[in-house]
Amino acid sequence: MSGSLHDAFLDELRDAFDAEKQITRALPRVAKAASSPQLRAAFEQHIQETKAQVERLTRVFESLGEKPRGKHCDGMAGILEEAKSALEEETEDATMDALLIASAQRVEHYEMAAYGTLVAWAEAMGHDEAARLLRETLDEEKATDEKLTAIAEGGINRDAASSSTDDESEAEEAQAEPQGRSATGGRRATGTGASGRTVAAATTRGGGRSTSRSTTSRTSARGAKATGARKR
Ligand code: FE
Ligand code: FE
Repeated sequence: MSGSLHDAFLDELRDAFDAEKQITRALPRVAKAASSPQLRAAFEQHIQETKAQVERLTRVFESLGEKPRGKHCDGMAGILEEAKSALEEETEDATMDALLIASAQRVEHYEMAAYGTLVAWAEAMGHDEAARLLRETLDEEKATDEKLTAIAEGGINRDAASSSTDDESEAEEAQAEPQGRSATGGRRATGTGASGRTVAAATTRGGGRSTSRSTTSRTSARGAKATGARKR
């Protein structure tokens, strides 16, 4: 590879091609894990869209006179790996839905970044057909992201927040702070004590992870307390 923008563009296209294929393999399991019919329907719709996006990318390659091929996308593999651990959490239905949305939004944001770059580069190099096709996909990813936010804020975050305040006391959460500070640093900035609100806010920003992490830190804080082995 000669290091031109065109080569970098092809490289990014191959990355996106592989990422979309990884997503088509992962999404059915995510859809199945969703309890909210609205959320499940959103995932199912995006499975179809994602398959069409793979097709669209083959047309992008063709418009450039290139053979469609993928190159392993480590970034997407990592995001999907994390999503898989979310699927393994034992949680209330609403919390699981919040976790699924959090994982899915990481996927969408990664895609939005990738397609945003691809569109801009295609335009800069005058690949008009490629730019047009890539923009269609970018718009679908954005719409999916917005739909997921709407579903989360339309009730799932609230339900998840109230199911977590049922069985997890805020006091325990506060105790977990020293240990959990790095993992949950973001939420502390938002958190003002009304734990339902905190979880809801965090979940919108992909806080499913904070939610699952805080379970871990809570446990370890407890463990640390029992043995008196506190850091500092
Ligand atoms: Fe996609
Ligand atoms: Fe997507």
